[in-house]
Amino acid sequence: MRLTDTRTRRVEEIRPERSRRLTMYACGPTVYRSQHVGNLRTFVLGDLISRCAETLHGWSVELVQNITDVGHLADDTGIELAGEDKLLLAAREENRDPFEIARFYEAQFHEDCAALNIKPAARYPRASECIELIVDLISRLMDKQHAYVGADGSVYFDARSFPSYGAISGNRLEDLRAGHRQDAAELSAGKRFHADWALWKSAGANRQMVWDTAWGPGFPGWHIECSAMSLHYLGETFDIHTGGIDLRFPHHEDERAQSESAVGHEVVRHWVHGEHLLADGRKMAKSTGNVVLVRDVAERGFDPLAVRLFYLTGRYRQQMNLTWDAIAGADRRLRRWRTKVAAWAEAPSAAMAEDYVGRLREAFEDDLDTPTALVALADLEKDDAVPAGAKFETFAWVDRVLGLDLVRDVGKPVMAAELPDGAADLLQRRERARAAKDWAASDTLRDELTSLGVAVTDGPDGQTWTVS
Ligand code: AMP
Ligand code: ZN
Repeated sequence: MRLTDTRTRRVEEIRPERSRRLTMYACGPTVYRSQHVGNLRTFVLGDLISRCAETLHGWSVELVQNITDVGHLADDTGIELAGEDKLLLAAREENRDPFEIARFYEAQFHEDCAALNIKPAARYPRASECIELIVDLISRLMDKQHAYVGADGSVYFDARSFPSYGAISGNRLEDLRAGHRQDAAELSAGKRFHADWALWKSAGANRQMVWDTAWGPGFPGWHIECSAMSLHYLGETFDIHTGGIDLRFPHHEDERAQSESAVGHEVVRHWVHGEHLLADGRKMAKSTGNVVLVRDVAERGFDPLAVRLFYLTGRYRQQMNLTWDAIAGADRRLRRWRTKVAAWAEAPSAAMAEDYVGRLREAFEDDLDTPTALVALADLEKDDAVPAGAKFETFAWVDRVLGLDLVRDVGKPVMAAELPDGAADLLQRRERARAAKDWAASDTLRDELTSLGVAVTDGPDGQTWTVS
């Protein structure tokens, strides 16, 4: 597997350190708001790496992704805002308990990931449940003189104690200037050097998410959470760390300094960053007001997986601009492929089309060149020399990497494309109602379908339908 490593600035050959087990850490969501399809682009990048590892190499993947449910005093631009805790702010606005908010958005994050066929991580540690790990790690850094308690009772990392600070982003300590409000506030409060950062923040007034420590009541900084969790769950060396490009600095630079200072060697073997998704030419972000959610896509009648296909039309290291036209185009292509795959499935079975498999593998191996993989598939779709059975096998195989549910319509008596608007959703809901033995709901849904002209019958293999 070949991927661009942000730290070495080269395309690197990736091999798991531990035999055929790829260990990976993905920075996860901050759960005081919905994740938008920009965030999800970054999570799909991690999923593509996992799927390539599993499907093309036969490796097993151990992925850990954190849930940031405390603090995170940063806005979408990465500039820290003094004293503003977004979770508590959201709690005040919505008049709810901050943990209730966090659990709500965490559940929504899992639903959105499922809608985009992002395979679940092995673990989703929550920051609020890892406080002990975090405090232990901070103590270790204090013992090794990499951290100090400031006059304000907060614990800071001493940036100058870590000589290779800046290796990922190319920033040099001497070039970093005290630029923003938080720096100024912290400098006057007890930070010794502008590039130092808080590992533990002493609690101000009115804080709800506060823990007691030897340094007094407070809450963890954001960067330390990822060091503590990755070291604990993946060990002192792991293969790949992913995140959006905005996390390269300061988040990952600070994480690297913390982890490496604690264990004495490089912890992350490869740093992989995904470029941003834009909308109207600007980075998609809540603060910009240009976010699109998975539910917005579904509400316009598009399959959420059209978003996933749209991501694949660009390379992960390039910015992409989201437009509804592009989503509509991806949606049409998705439906056409599903219909064709279902038709090819009826043909006599045949082995995969090996030259296309070769082209596809090569594209994925070339730093995840998904646009070239999609070109190979478009060629295969049109290639009359390849028997239908071979097309079916090849599309079904490649879908294990693409994750587009291309075989969804195989064996269905009526193609989803022929169903009247809304019927596919009703059929799905009815399937679920029947699985839950909710016969009343199942009957109501059948009536709704009848009124749309879809006649449903139940057989031993589940429901089947005809369109009048
Ligand atoms: P957050 O919930 O803000 O911590 O972000 C979760 C992940 O989404 C991080 O890896 C960010 O780097 C990433 N991210 C945020 N905005 C975008 C965007 N517009 N495009 C792609 N990734 C993003
Ligand atoms: Zn992180």
